[in-house]
Amino acid sequence: MAKKKASKKTSKKPAAKKAAKKAGKKQAARKTTAKKSAAKKTKVHAAGSRGKTAGKKKVARKAGGAKRVDPNKMVYAFGKKTEGDASMKLLLGGKGANLADMTSIGLPVPAGFTITTDTCAKYNAAGQRLPKGLMHEVGKHMTELEKQRGKKFGDRTDPLLVSVRSGAAISMPGMMDTILNLGLTDASVEALAQATGNERFAFDAYRRLINMFGDVVMGVGHHHFEHEFDEVKKRYGVAMDTEVPAEGLRELCERYKDVYRKHVREEFPQNPMKQLELAIEAVFKSWMADKAVSYRRIEGVTGLNGTAVNVQSMVFGNMGDDCGTGVAFTRNPSTGENKFYGEFLINAQGEDVVAGIRTPSDVVEMAKWNKAVYKRLIDIKNALELHYRDMQDIEFTIERGDLFMLQTRTGKRTGAAAVNIACDMVKEKLISETEGLLRIPAGDLTQLLLPSFDPKAKASADILAKGLPASPGAAVGHPAFTAEEAVDRAHQGEKVILVRKETSPEDVDGMHTAAGILTSTGGMTSHAAVVARGWGKCCVAGAGAIQIDEKNGTFTVGGRTFGRTDLISIDGSTGEVISGSVPTVTPELSGNFAKVMKWADKHRTMGVRTNADTPADAKRAREFGAEGIGLTRTEHMFFEGERIVAMREMILAETKSDREKALAKLLPFQRDDFEGIFTAMNGLPVTIRLLDPPLHEFLPHEESGMREVAKNLGVDLEVIRRRVAMLHEANPMMGHRGCRLAVTYPEILDMQVRAIVGAAIDCDAKKVKAVPEIMIPLIGIDAELAMLRAQVEKTIAAVKKERGFKKKLDIKIGTMIEIPRAAVTSEQIAKHADFFSFGTNDLTQLTFGYSRDDVNTFLPDYLGKDLLPEDPFQSLDRSGVGVLVKMGIAGGRKTNPTLKLGICGEHGGDPKSVFFCHEAGLDYVSCSPFRVPIARLAAAQAAIRAKG
Ligand code: PEP
Ligand code: MG
Repeated sequence: MAKKKASKKTSKKPAAKKAAKKAGKKQAARKTTAKKSAAKKTKVHAAGSRGKTAGKKKVARKAGGAKRVDPNKMVYAFGKKTEGDASMKLLLGGKGANLADMTSIGLPVPAGFTITTDTCAKYNAAGQRLPKGLMHEVGKHMTELEKQRGKKFGDRTDPLLVSVRSGAAISMPGMMDTILNLGLTDASVEALAQATGNERFAFDAYRRLINMFGDVVMGVGHHHFEHEFDEVKKRYGVAMDTEVPAEGLRELCERYKDVYRKHVREEFPQNPMKQLELAIEAVFKSWMADKAVSYRRIEGVTGLNGTAVNVQSMVFGNMGDDCGTGVAFTRNPSTGENKFYGEFLINAQGEDVVAGIRTPSDVVEMAKWNKAVYKRLIDIKNALELHYRDMQDIEFTIERGDLFMLQTRTGKRTGAAAVNIACDMVKEKLISETEGLLRIPAGDLTQLLLPSFDPKAKASADILAKGLPASPGAAVGHPAFTAEEAVDRAHQGEKVILVRKETSPEDVDGMHTAAGILTSTGGMTSHAAVVARGWGKCCVAGAGAIQIDEKNGTFTVGGRTFGRTDLISIDGSTGEVISGSVPTVTPELSGNFAKVMKWADKHRTMGVRTNADTPADAKRAREFGAEGIGLTRTEHMFFEGERIVAMREMILAETKSDREKALAKLLPFQRDDFEGIFTAMNGLPVTIRLLDPPLHEFLPHEESGMREVAKNLGVDLEVIRRRVAMLHEANPMMGHRGCRLAVTYPEILDMQVRAIVGAAIDCDAKKVKAVPEIMIPLIGIDAELAMLRAQVEKTIAAVKKERGFKKKLDIKIGTMIEIPRAAVTSEQIAKHADFFSFGTNDLTQLTFGYSRDDVNTFLPDYLGKDLLPEDPFQSLDRSGVGVLVKMGIAGGRKTNPTLKLGICGEHGGDPKSVFFCHEAGLDYVSCSPFRVPIARLAAAQAAIRAKG
């Protein structure tokens, strides 16, 4: 862990500007406005880059942006005059801020304006009423937009049409609403047909508006409109939407208006400004829609004000075969490969691509369709990457051969892609090494440590179909056919694969609880693919060979039918759908992953240990970079085979000498276990905690179990019953456990210390360097530790003497700080300790007074009602438990400046808590083996951030 200097920040701005200019050369007029704000960009982009570093998604309000803003201003323009910039994501949402930013650097963006997220907050605070003056301000911006476009909103000759889209500071794919083609009325649709010379297009746009407006703004079920569309298709004897002629679409608009009238009990609004007002309100409302609330809960997004609303002049990808629309990522979001990656559709409107209704073409195919447009798109893609210095997720439309950018945002990516993109961008000198490290959300490394299917087993697997490798991973489970079903069955402990034609934002809960997601339609940028990648959940999309019968809970493929009880495996890295359960293998830490870990080790100042109870776990953790063991829970060694029999014998013993006899049987097992662990960790410290849980945990509580124990031990059933009853405690977590056991039964401590010292001496003979540290749990009074330490020391000396071992055995003796009193009196406790390890599981339990075992009976309500920002057992509570930890550190160090300080509660592997541990000044964190790489990266990020 050398503390080297961070590599220099790489600035690529001049190149970015050049590239942007080249890409946007058609929009010469816009360049004038670009100049000023482009100069400001340099410092802004870092802030504008991926907001999800280290799994932290809570957005601090004060980070609202570099620009001073007028608190009364509700609307910001982009176009000829651009008022926002990339630093204003909190106020303008990600989409709004980047539309302004792209406009400023001269890229072709249809003009428009953004209504702020603060306005959404005001709307909700006022009981869902639009703030006074908002529509007046909107009206002024519409007039300006009309001037710029030379068209009038609702005009009877050449109408201006606008889109209304949501956009929060953090992207929430598909969670909120969009309405396109606003401004069309019975009169202006005729004008549009005239002006474009394309009646079919005009009525197609109108029917989409009535449908979207009816559905999104007025809550008329989409199926009512679908039904009418099916009727019209039948009448014209066609199967596809695109085959319905102009007349048919004209008729469809009439039918849609009838549907609208029937359900809303009003005419479809013929006043464009009224349409706009209602649409804005609907987008604000969608912030609090169930699906959006669920998504934020799942993603842990808090601290946001609401959504912004982007009103933008429409460009059309559906005017004919020289038009199109697409979505793309500047690099592959699944693997990170530096290859343009996306999809487009000719003659289509934006939503058609993501909705998964038509299967789009690979974006690189665009070159065959229109070489010049494709080249311009590539130039823009390159410019955007240089400008934002991160992988972008873009949306574009081509209207009659002209390319327009509708969105750019930092692309969601899998953990593997995050690692590969960071490494590539450092190599390309686009970002520095430290920026590369900060770009990777530490928690997402879990995905790289997940098992993948064993290639050997896959060679003979029964492959049913091949879809798109939408989000990597290996998932095995039983098919579930609706989101609700997936949630229910998963809650009952079943592993399910959510099998859907395509997912929709309403499905997020089901998608989240399923082990994997399989869809039969939809591409790599479909809803299922984007959301699954964001979560690092295994997903195969567009497996077209699969036919789903949701009603009967089956799917058919190649003439075979699979139902709820069948097992299937899906490989998100290859797109394969396989019958049965394919075995998996655990991954290795190699390639770019290993490189990132090396960088992390260079920057972090905190050590990373592991919690491990077996040599196999210790070995695995060491391979993942653990620098020692921070917690061996010795009780885990007492459960198997003969050990549990001896353990029970010890618990049932009535006298000290009987207890000692039973303990003598346990000793060799313990010694062998310790020797195995010392060998696996050769040369690294191993903190062994003496027995901690209450003794009743080792006895069965049901009659049948007690009967079996009685038989095994050859004692009367009544003896067992009595013992179980005697050991019963009302609050076992606060009862006879931890050091209290050693106070009552010193012989247990004695046996364990003997096993530790014996193993260390045996290791020495085998030239294995054992570095044991003996940890006494649940200390609350310094006198407890003073007494037990003396006993440990006495036993160490006795074993050395018995074994005739003359060499020095450096065994540190310390304690866990897991009782608030220990933290408060740490100054005294440190007099008897060589180290403290904060047991934040118990410390959280006892600080909050929440039972670790029962907290889930009420915690969901606390989280749902925002009484707690997150589960304090997962992420350390800084303002309560954190204060006690700091108190413990300060007191401990005051008494003993060389006191070693670590943490071994679950928080040691949680990125946010690791940040806290760094700030608090701990020497190391300790976590489960699979979280070791996460802790290494999080510790590096904490150190880098602290340097500023
Ligand atoms: C703790 O309390 O934080 C701890 C590590 O001990 P356990 O979880 O075993 O109680
Ligand atoms: Mg504990």
